[in-house]
Amino acid sequence: MTVLPLYVAGNWRPGRGAPLITRNPANNEVLASVSTASIEDVDEAVQAAQVAMQNPAWRDLLPHQRAGYLHRIAALIERDSEKLAQLQRQDNGKPILETRALVASAAGTFRFFAAACETLEGDITPSRGNYLSLSLHEPLGVIAAITPWNSPIASEAQKVAPALAAGNAVIVKPSEFSPLLALELAKLAEEAGLPKGLLSVLPGTGTVTGPALVAHPGIAKVTFTGGTATGRAIGHVAAEKIMPVSLELGGKSPNIVFADADIEQAINGVLFGIFSSQGQSCIAGSRIFIEEPIYAGFRDRLVERTKALRIGDPVSERTQIGPLITPQQRDKVEGYVKLAQQEGGRLLCGGTRPTDPALQDGNYFTPALIENLSNRCRTAQEEIFGPVGILLPFRDEATLIHDANDTVFGLASGIWTGDFRRAWRIGRALNAGTVWVNTYKQFSIATAFGGNAESGLGREKGRDGIKAYMRQKSVYVDMSGRSIPWAD
Ligand code: NDP
Repeated sequence: MTVLPLYVAGNWRPGRGAPLITRNPANNEVLASVSTASIEDVDEAVQAAQVAMQNPAWRDLLPHQRAGYLHRIAALIERDSEKLAQLQRQDNGKPILETRALVASAAGTFRFFAAACETLEGDITPSRGNYLSLSLHEPLGVIAAITPWNSPIASEAQKVAPALAAGNAVIVKPSEFSPLLALELAKLAEEAGLPKGLLSVLPGTGTVTGPALVAHPGIAKVTFTGGTATGRAIGHVAAEKIMPVSLELGGKSPNIVFADADIEQAINGVLFGIFSSQGQSCIAGSRIFIEEPIYAGFRDRLVERTKALRIGDPVSERTQIGPLITPQQRDKVEGYVKLAQQEGGRLLCGGTRPTDPALQDGNYFTPALIENLSNRCRTAQEEIFGPVGILLPFRDEATLIHDANDTVFGLASGIWTGDFRRAWRIGRALNAGTVWVNTYKQFSIATAFGGNAESGLGREKGRDGIKAYMRQKSVYVDMSGRSIPWAD
């Protein structure tokens, strides 16, 4: 089998690390063998990026010229959208309708940050004397973008587009479990004419390539999406280097249903919140709080609808639940279902490997709902990252807010109610980076995203997303011509 090369310093060549194998989660067949980057490859990519950034061909571009590269990348993603969506479906097992949406969002992200680049303004700050004072934004340097396996190309676009728009160079380290889309993005950037060295894509492991990038003295910032433990480890290194870091980490988000909600709408929102992407989503609404008066009826209807979800090959547009990323991930999720039962939980549905012979080779797992657990138990506190929802009845707003916030995370939340004043009250009280009211997993590239507490540090997206890859410089210009009195 041929080993796919790295894109390092503008060249496609084999990496010096041991190749890795990526498999299709729907049948565990080998999809590709991929080169990985060694410490030496990382160093070569960083050095080339530093040179490319300082080259006038990039450094001195006018905003509309730099934006032009991003527009061209966006157009090429759109041109190849079906191919990319199918490849992503094979590489990470998400159903095809989801991967199409992710590819479209990646193109939109490049367009949005092209516009941000063209419209970015500096400030003339209020002068406190006879001088002109300015605040300018300048690129940071070489950015390391480290991404997880659950939303390839969308995750990479969210980092690469603003970093390039801001005038930086970027080195991407995709997850070892889904490296193919990042390599495709590199091909498109090359076709778009992006100057060599500005973007490198270095597949590799979280034990060699990732740490080598983070620790490299030439890296000016790490932008990371992944698990909280990894984020913490990166944060430690960043502290030693006094290096800025942005961390998009895990979650255990509350999705809250009040008795006055539109019940069918809420059921759809709860199902989508926890079971889309097989629950392998940082924002999964995995703690489902239901107001007591409607608890039993809502639970029964939710169980009925969960059992009817269509599990199958992600290639089909009818599939709602595809396979989990790896057999190990399925083992982990299965372990949590067992743990929940040991903790006193009652399994209402799912939580098993499907019996359908057509699904035996893939990492499929039936969507599970569990009740009778306390909010403090491990299954209600730890991120499972799979199709497992915990049902938690609540009686009053004060206890609800306490329990919803009683977690180390603070990523997202949902509120289902017909009372907009209550939605406002609860939404303001929740410790979460995002609050959805009568909807869930709604996104816009124009709206900031990020987590509180152990869900992360910093925000991505939004008009200010470009500034996360820039630093401010203050400039004072004397307008009086007078000499400085102290020196006279
Ligand atoms: P990991 O934290 O295991 O890995 C994320 C990336 O970091 C991978 O590329 C990984 O490489 C790399 N990595 C691992 N260890 C290190 C290290 N010490 N130094 C540098 N890089 C390292 O997360 P997963 O890939 O398992 O993704 C799932 C997690 O991501 C979940 O916790 C989820 O909540 C979170 N996530 C958060 C999102 C958000 O926006 N808040 C969005 C999506 C996911 P390798 O693959 O080789 O291990």
